[in-house]
Amino acid sequence: MRNRFLAPKTEEFKKQPGYPSEERMSKGMVAVIECEQEIPCNPCETSCPNNAIIVGDNITDLPELFGEKCVGCGLCVAKCPGQAIFMIDMTYSDKTALVGFPYEYLPMPQKDQEVEAVNRNGEILGKGIVRKIQNSRTMDKTNVIYVEVIKEIGEEVRSIARK
Ligand code: SF4
Ligand code: SF4
Repeated sequence: MRNRFLAPKTEEFKKQPGYPSEERMSKGMVAVIECEQEIPCNPCETSCPNNAIIVGDNITDLPELFGEKCVGCGLCVAKCPGQAIFMIDMTYSDKTALVGFPYEYLPMPQKDQEVEAVNRNGEILGKGIVRKIQNSRTMDKTNVIYVEVIKEIGEEVRSIARK
């Protein structure tokens, strides 16, 4: 039985319809949906300008990602009330990946600041560098922070340690 205090592992999320295929992941920035609960919710679907996320008529279904339609804009990350969507670019450089996630704490990190990257359970995985911060009216003032980390932890990093 899974420890209810620990988040599911990457391998478990990969079995869900919201996780992009390895082929799509190898092509650049893409949304990664880690929605756990089958609850009535679909802002991910309605916020995507490219119809890349479908919940469908049964609003409690888990969202499905159509990775080939995703252009990596990050809009759905800010619109998800469950903070269950992330952005990953495994092609950022030869050795690094870029991971985007919602961040609503203060103080906000600055661009090019070194930070500690953490996993789904808040455990520190290593250093990262903030490369981009998205925040616009279309994102409901939710910040989406993008952190460069080594590729090996790209699919595990989901936030940064708070100061
Ligand atoms: S990142 Fe942009 S294009 Fe991709 S699923 Fe989210 S809203 Fe749609
Ligand atoms: S908006 Fe977020 S919490 Fe709601 S169904 Fe979509 S991914 Fe899940």
